Amino acid sequence: MKHLTNQQQETAVIAMEEMAELTQVLSKLIRFGYTSDKTEHLIQEMGDVLLLHRLLQNTFGIEDNSLDEAMLRKQHKLMAWSSLYE
Ligand SMILES: [Mg+2]
Repeated sequence: MKHLTNQQQETAVIAMEEMAELTQVLSKLIRFGYTSDKTEHLIQEMGDVLLLHRLLQNTFGIEDNSLDEAMLRKQHKLMAWSSLYE
């Protein structure tokens, strides 16, 4: 077993925080509805998550093609088990 570096730990914690913030925004959109004044907040939290996603990729040394393959696997599951690709 290998412990995370300080940079990996910090990136992981901030990523968790940002994903929680996006989760909260999405939950409130479902509960209270989506109006145009909420767009900027949604965009900001999505951007925060995308940035931390990239930083996670960098700090863990994950190649783009590995992520592409993972995304394809998930896409196939969603095609089979959701209506998102109908
Ligand atoms: Mg945020």
